[in-house]
Amino acid sequence: MSGDYIASIGLETHVQLKTRSKIWCGCANAFGSPPNTDVCPVCLGYPGTMPVLNREAVRLTVMTGLMLGCTINRYSKFDRKSYFYPDMPKNYQISQYDRPLCLGGAVEIEVNGARKTIRINRIHLEEDVAKNNHFETASGVDFNRAGTPLMEIVSEPDIASADEAFAYLQALKQMLVYGGISDGNLEQGNIRCDINCSVRPRDQEALGTKTEIKNMNTFRGVHRSLNYEIKRQIDVVSAQGVIRQETRRWDDDHGVTRAMRSKEYAHDYRYFPEPDLMPVVLDEADIARWKESLPEMPAARRERFVQDYGLPDYDAGVLVADKAVADYFEAVAQAADNPKAASNWMMTEMLRWLSDQDVTIESVPIQPAQLAALIRLVDEKVVNMPGAKIVFAELAEKGGDPRAIVEAKGLAQVSDSGALDAWVEAAIAENPKSVADYQGGKKAALQFLMGQVMRASKGKANPPMVMDALRKRLDP
Ligand code: ZN
Ligand code: MN
Repeated sequence: MSGDYIASIGLETHVQLKTRSKIWCGCANAFGSPPNTDVCPVCLGYPGTMPVLNREAVRLTVMTGLMLGCTINRYSKFDRKSYFYPDMPKNYQISQYDRPLCLGGAVEIEVNGARKTIRINRIHLEEDVAKNNHFETASGVDFNRAGTPLMEIVSEPDIASADEAFAYLQALKQMLVYGGISDGNLEQGNIRCDINCSVRPRDQEALGTKTEIKNMNTFRGVHRSLNYEIKRQIDVVSAQGVIRQETRRWDDDHGVTRAMRSKEYAHDYRYFPEPDLMPVVLDEADIARWKESLPEMPAARRERFVQDYGLPDYDAGVLVADKAVADYFEAVAQAADNPKAASNWMMTEMLRWLSDQDVTIESVPIQPAQLAALIRLVDEKVVNMPGAKIVFAELAEKGGDPRAIVEAKGLAQVSDSGALDAWVEAAIAENPKSVADYQGGKKAALQFLMGQVMRASKGKANPPMVMDALRKRLDP
């Protein structure tokens, strides 16, 4: 049945901007301070206080618009969005209604190798609200978060599946981190989104009735809730039922969405222009300067890694996914003057280490210069690959000088032909059957003999030299 229906999903993504102070006042825009310590009469919403716009929040929003190819409105303004809830004692949120900072634009995504463009409707700037904390017998409101600059990126309903939504959020997060717009820290609530989802029969043109799932703060939650909600709606519609326009809540423990309240319409918010703030007028020189300062985006960097370093497209994609990993790789590649080897070390040992230890690359003791030095030792045949991996494990744990570790652990590769010949002779003498197999045409037997030599040398023999010596003795 599900093949007869298609889903249309739009995401409203709220991103906390990485500014030093809040959007209307000088309070710190920080995370983790004791409750209600980064506050003042303005962000507490006292009557009679006046907001003063933080220009940096405008710059970061416009930079995002430029990254996503939006049209930047030269004239935009703020509006009051009225509602009643304890997280906002003024009873309105300052947001942007009909003149947002950015319009249009797009995000490119890739799912299972297929590329797709998700159109952006608009990006506007607003204030984050306070946070309600619920305890056993009471609730508390923490205003540290109130007044954090919040950028809302609204997509068109171009997303057709949970996988596409996940890819969209990943792509967006990568760009925001690359652009220095946000830390993209989901645990700290830097990125939260509301999901609009509807389904319709494949042959119907008009969108179905949508539901909204509010305040998702993990990408995995978005993925799971969408898989649930799409199936729920298809089940309802295919049984001739009716989807109600409503707000739903994701219950992560039970893996279901639940109806919360019937959906409010825009006129319920009684939007009207914010009288305490001047309209935002951007001049061409500012926009041109900001455009100039745009950093390289992940897609362009991936392309460059393929072109300049000769990496496979897949490897380049993995490396650029995390900006810090990509920066680390480039530092190693340049210091070692060997991008291929740098990429191999990153793709295998380094990423495995990070995932085993569940840490990010910023907290790894091994520095790019040290990994580069290790690569040089391999290139200079001071240590072979098995030995180098032992050195890497030690470096990853506590850092240090690779050459000193090679010496301390006695891992220096033996390239002295006298010593190699003795091991080769012994391996041949002790394994007559393998010798006969090899000479009888079984090429794999040579690998076995090679393994015997490596074992006798405790892994220190120079593998290409061993191979040469074996061939010289055994080939006719
Ligand atoms: Zn304040
Ligand atoms: Mn919003």
